Amino acid sequence: MKALDFALSINGRLVRSAETGTAINPATETVICAFPLATRAHLDEAVQAAQAAFARWRDTPLAERQRRVSALGDALEKHHDRFVELLITEQGKARSGAEWEIGGAIHWCREIATQSLEDQVIHQDGDEQVVSRHVPIGVIGAITPWNFPILLAIWKIAPALVAGNTMVLKPSPFTPLCTLLLGELANDILPPGVLNVLSGGNELGQWITEHPGIGKISFTGSTATGQRVMQSASVNIKRLTLELGGNDPAIVLADVDAKAIAKDLFWAAFSNSAQFCVACKRLYVHEAVYDDVARELVAYARTVKMGNGTEPGVELGPLQNRMQFEKVKGLLRDCQANEQHFLIGGEVTAERGYFIPVTLVDNPPEDARCVTEEAFGPVLPLLKFNDTEDVIRRANGTEYGLAATVWSRDLEQAQRIARRLEAGTVWINHAHQFSPHIAFGGHKTSGLGIENSLHGLAEYTNVQTVLQKAGH
Ligand code: NAD
Repeated sequence: MKALDFALSINGRLVRSAETGTAINPATETVICAFPLATRAHLDEAVQAAQAAFARWRDTPLAERQRRVSALGDALEKHHDRFVELLITEQGKARSGAEWEIGGAIHWCREIATQSLEDQVIHQDGDEQVVSRHVPIGVIGAITPWNFPILLAIWKIAPALVAGNTMVLKPSPFTPLCTLLLGELANDILPPGVLNVLSGGNELGQWITEHPGIGKISFTGSTATGQRVMQSASVNIKRLTLELGGNDPAIVLADVDAKAIAKDLFWAAFSNSAQFCVACKRLYVHEAVYDDVARELVAYARTVKMGNGTEPGVELGPLQNRMQFEKVKGLLRDCQANEQHFLIGGEVTAERGYFIPVTLVDNPPEDARCVTEEAFGPVLPLLKFNDTEDVIRRANGTEYGLAATVWSRDLEQAQRIARRLEAGTVWINHAHQFSPHIAFGGHKTSGLGIENSLHGLAEYTNVQTVLQKAGH
């Protein structure tokens, strides 16, 4: 690979830092390259640039803001192959997954660029008029995780900019490269200061959440960090959107054809090597079909190749970083220590790379760690049930409330269950359908607020009501 060079983007310019971190390829554990670590001074400079750009960007006609956001999608498309290669290298995902993510990011830019929020006339009577409208907030601090670094950044950039805000964006220190590249390309598309990209460690995230020049934080990451973000954002009553962790249940009813749904169930749980906030993380299967579902899942799992995402045929990559790798290995050790039975997997055998094999745990107790914790790795407990009330109670028996799935031919029954699940999204007989026009957000400790759809766009605004009377 030729030498890679990445810089911060501040006020439309590339900026170096004397401090650097190291990006690691999780499939090989080799160094990819160094990347800049932003200092507090860089952050202050970026916030000042974003504040200075705000007035002009806010007053730029909506159609022009939309055009520029759509042009970000064009830039991603133009550099598609470069992004895909870089994403495989820094995140570890399989090529199909990297193409899905970059394709999604392009689509989001173009679709969010069609959205707008209309003024609402609440009252109109003779000389009196009351109008509520959405006005941009100012500078948005956006903080993203390492599982879908580009797509989740675009989920924030596109609506924030369409709504008239400017932004300081911080990618995860585990996956900064694609986002820095996006910042570099955006410098040719957006006016200076509208989008500033700073890579750095977790402390940079904290500085952003505390910064008085920032009006809102849009954060995607773990619930534990989300709680810290919420605390420090209180300093100037920042607006918040938090997309946090999950422990999503799937409920498989007795009337399913196990063979027919096995593939979809598998990918509901293991896409992106299960580093997916909405991965199915607890699979409740009716006892009448438990053995069939277990057998079909194992059979399908044996057909899926795990390896370096650059290799042909690979569909699952490693975990993204050593910390996560050690955490999931700890979960496997806990299963072993408690004599839980693996239907497949359970042994880490790779000599290099953070590879955890697809692991299905056979009906562990409800209080087992692999059931109660968000694994964020390919370890899935299969759990038996025989009573609908019982399974709804168990599915809801978690602090999280991100998403859930229900699998049945009886759609009325599935809908009845869906209504009682404490989750922001429920998919019936499929999983992971997202759209720029479909609201997404977590209940309980899985988050606060909404991304995507007009609800998501509205989260990048304050409501301003103007009450007018005739002048004398
Ligand atoms: P994380 O919380 O460790 O880190 C997320 C981001 O926060 C990173 O950029 C990190 O540098 C930054 N950060 C760390 N400490 C901070 C602090 N004190 N203040 C501000 N920022 C700080 O999460 P992760 O390990 O990168 O991602 C995995 C988690 O993200 C999982 O729990 C997953 O479920 C969740 N996630 C949720 C969604 C969703 O939409 N709900 C999507 C993807 C991932």
